[in-house]
Amino acid sequence: MVTETRREAVTAVVDPRTGRPVGEVALLSAADVPRVARTAAAAAPGWAGTTVDHRARKIRDLADALARRLPGLAPRFSQEHGKTPAEAMAELERAVETLRWSADAALEVSRPTSLPERGGIAREVVVDPAGPVLAIVPWNFPAVVLARKLGPALAMGCSVVVKGPEEVPCVPAAMARAAAEAGLPDGLVQVVHAAPADAEALVRRPEFRRVTFTGSTRVGRLVAAAAAEQLTPCVLELGGHAPVIVTDDADLDAAVDALAIAKFGSTGQSCGAPSRFIVQERVADDFVRRLVRRAPAPDSEPGGTMGPLNNARRRDAVHSLVEDAVRGGARLVLGGRIPDTPGFHYPATVLCDVPPQARILHEEPFGPVAPVMRYRDDAEALTLANSSAYALSAYVYGEPGRARELAGLLDAGSVGVNCSPGAAPDAPLGGRAASGYGYEGGVQGLLSFGALKVVQHLARPTSDAP
Ligand code: NAD
Repeated sequence: MVTETRREAVTAVVDPRTGRPVGEVALLSAADVPRVARTAAAAAPGWAGTTVDHRARKIRDLADALARRLPGLAPRFSQEHGKTPAEAMAELERAVETLRWSADAALEVSRPTSLPERGGIAREVVVDPAGPVLAIVPWNFPAVVLARKLGPALAMGCSVVVKGPEEVPCVPAAMARAAAEAGLPDGLVQVVHAAPADAEALVRRPEFRRVTFTGSTRVGRLVAAAAAEQLTPCVLELGGHAPVIVTDDADLDAAVDALAIAKFGSTGQSCGAPSRFIVQERVADDFVRRLVRRAPAPDSEPGGTMGPLNNARRRDAVHSLVEDAVRGGARLVLGGRIPDTPGFHYPATVLCDVPPQARILHEEPFGPVAPVMRYRDDAEALTLANSSAYALSAYVYGEPGRARELAGLLDAGSVGVNCSPGAAPDAPLGGRAASGYGYEGGVQGLLSFGALKVVQHLARPTSDAP
């Protein structure tokens, strides 16, 4: 269900290809915040009291209802976000897959496990539903991130308030409609949009037993501080700045094919996108030439295949990082100029010999920019790769054995060796350091929405027991 919000507070939804509004979204008012939290608390016990099989069936119904909506939803998602229609559809399909996986996996995770008998006491570990969950979702992968929070939370028996991204409201709205169509109880899934202060007020509500947040490190810190007031545990999936090491024995054709997709897909607006290219000096020029040949043109140009950035703020931030790198001595090999077209397009950009102090090597670029550095030996490559405050994703391209060894020495929650796949439903993804804490995906992600309880009882009833 989409929670009723007051009409006086609305924000425009803008098409990033034109820069023009294509709709608006109503924002929660401060006065609505307690009501939303209480509704979630009221819906929680009924759902927690259902069997895991029932919940799994309902989540599959939700996935089916969402799947039926995809043909109509994907074009609108592409329009609000700027992703190409193919990218929009691929993300939505992954969201459906994630919901289905959550339903199946919860059946396994929710089973009690026995501990060995101890001093005549039999023991069992039970997973209770954690209670109402607040799920805060960013605009960049709104469908997959939403599914990675909603599916597991529902499967584990929790009610959920989704604070959706104002930039792409069509995705959470479609999820809410799919939830209603699947017959989920009223109040179990509420979708709201809110200004930052009201989103933070939700985090402070004592009704929530878990907060799951995906977004920037800056906002993640605010969320963690607000949640600490009620000691509400958080999962924080924050920003990334993924290094990619390319060794001199890498298959450059294969590496560039895979990396061009990982870098320029979704116009670089992915937390796991490669964003620091650390290339062995003997192959660096060759690598850059190939990357430039493989870079896509914006879809505002004939034959272009890369969408715009999502908003003007993002485009200006990306451009300022490029300008700063060039001022510091980086060589601009491709792109680097804001095109004179409507909307928020930014060209695929390759920067060579980026100096260590350049901001782009320390701040999340979140755009279609590939900064390239050269290295001499493996030790230098690892130092460069592990030098960021972020530690989310990393990649190594090289002879498989050597690349696997380097992967073992990288500080990251996920490492791709000669491949750059996205997050899969059954694999835990978690950041370290400024990339956050906790896990989403996999059994570990499901357990984030559970609360463990040890039940102990006498293994053999006493003889004088009634
Ligand atoms: P953001 O931090 O600006 O916003 C994220 C969400 O938080 C939005 O819904 C926003 O409305 C809300 N929000 C803003 N201020 C808030 C506050 N004070 N209290 C509570 N909520 C608040 O991030 P964004 O620009 O929407 O998303 C991009 C960021 O998300 C990037 O940094 C990216 O790396 C990160 N991200 C991380 C992962 C991951 O798995 N680690 C996945 C996707 C995106």
